Amino acid sequence: MKKLFILAACLFVSYSVQAQLQPKKMTPESSEIWDPVPRKVTPGPANASVSGFTAPSDAIVLFDGSNLNEWMASNGGDAPWMVSDGAMTVAPRKGGIQTKREFGDYQLHIEWRTPAEVKGNGQGRGNSGVFMQGIYELQVLDSYENPTYSNGQAGSIYKQSMPLVNVSKKPGEWQVYDVIYTAPRFNKDGLMLIPPYITVLHNGVLIQNHTQIQGTTAFVGRPVVKPHGRGPIMLQDHGNPTSFRNIWIREL
Ligand code: MG
Repeated sequence: MKKLFILAACLFVSYSVQAQLQPKKMTPESSEIWDPVPRKVTPGPANASVSGFTAPSDAIVLFDGSNLNEWMASNGGDAPWMVSDGAMTVAPRKGGIQTKREFGDYQLHIEWRTPAEVKGNGQGRGNSGVFMQGIYELQVLDSYENPTYSNGQAGSIYKQSMPLVNVSKKPGEWQVYDVIYTAPRFNKDGLMLIPPYITVLHNGVLIQNHTQIQGTTAFVGRPVVKPHGRGPIMLQDHGNPTSFRNIWIREL
């Protein structure tokens, strides 16, 4: 009887240890961080019709407002987005687009505008994204008085790193991201020697300061590291008609 009791106790302890070691199944909510909330900063006023700099002499112009020649559909074929009034706009649910060219390290300038007519809330309001090398998402969202999890608001590295401050303009106003990105380095066995790093200014204000990117920026689950080479700039279709303009890149 005593032996049986000891056996039962052992089984129970072993089961408890097992249960603790089992990782919990991740849900979308388990990688959300709601607190702290980045403090609000009002950007300096724009003084020209183009709110940021136009391309310097050594830049590759990816979009000058006239056509999508530098872009293709992310799932192949022609880029399905609309071009009008010097801007390109997501064609909701027709898919994301990406540059035909691929890049390693770069400085990127990109302007974006969430719809003036506010529809939806949280992640459903003006959601898009700029993906470094087609993998790592710098979130685009209408984060003007629109609460959501901090590591998913505009300027976040999605589900990884919240912006230092919230420099969001009102919906319908043009905003700017200036990005400095260095690609990860892998050895020939596919082990990551140096992670990707990103610095971002939002409307001229620093929001990501040499932030280490942990891996993929998934909706569910932790970041995953996968070896890769050069990659495109990808823009997300998240079902909202968000617009972009004045996109240029300088390879470093
Ligand atoms: Mg997004």
